[in-house]
Amino acid sequence: MPNTTCPGCAAQISDEVAACPHCGGPLTASHSRPTQAPIQRTGGKVLAIGTVLLASAVIATVIGAWWGPALLFPGAAVFILGKFWS
Ligand SMILES: [Zn+2]
Repeated sequence: MPNTTCPGCAAQISDEVAACPHCGGPLTASHSRPTQAPIQRTGGKVLAIGTVLLASAVIATVIGAWWGPALLFPGAAVFILGKFWS
């Protein structure tokens, strides 16, 4: 049974438990439990949100909504962030 070190109390515990039996702290993903690299997905999500924000901002600006220009910059920022992230 592989062991891991509790991030809360540094005790050697099984990495198959969800919480440390010593301090009760939750175990974060460790080297022995690989996470399914969410970076690509997150980037795609950010890009999608940015696209929606930017499109809304452009439309709002065109139709003369007061919040259109206010949304343009954050929309573009999120869009660019998502573009480079993914
Ligand atoms: Zn602990």
